Amino acid sequence: MTRAMIPGSFDPPTKGHIDIIKRTSRLFDEVIVVIAKNILKNSMVSEEDRKMLLEKCLSDTKNVKVSITSGLVADYARENNIDIMVRGVRNSSDYDYESELATINEKINTNLDVIYLGAREEYRILRSTLVKDLLFHGADISLFVPEVVCTFLNKQKREGKI
Ligand code: ADP
Repeated sequence: MTRAMIPGSFDPPTKGHIDIIKRTSRLFDEVIVVIAKNILKNSMVSEEDRKMLLEKCLSDTKNVKVSITSGLVADYARENNIDIMVRGVRNSSDYDYESELATINEKINTNLDVIYLGAREEYRILRSTLVKDLLFHGADISLFVPEVVCTFLNKQKREGKI
């Protein structure tokens, strides 16, 4: 059975994330989306809510599971016997950053291979920070995030939780 992981912050999950996860799910028997707690980043949405949102967005994709780790993703891969990590790449600066990160992860876990999937054209400009910025300024985010994420974030904002 071929298994791959897709680690990331997913804060919040965007249409670009869902696209890359669904495309990866066609290439492997099982895909684990790993929400990595990042102590250097202030998150907007809690890990548990990100997990719930990703699970809702991916409920029609049966070979995808979502999990959370507070450790290093390379260690998560080792502990769970996963040898392949998939990362989405939008442009050349993503590639530069990702290849550095891959070198580090492959040094921490020598069994690991990091592979890249190019973002679809319509999602190349899309990143979670853009969604956060638009939301902060009260702009419409429905073009960029799945409906369930849009409803959740707008409600959180109305209630003053974010
Ligand atoms: P991180 O915080 O680790 O950079 P993100 O949560 O931003 O991770 O993204 C998780 C994964 O999804 C990464 O591999 C990232 O490259 C990919 N990704 C993010 N946005 C897009 C997008 N618009 N299209 C395709 N892949 C994307």
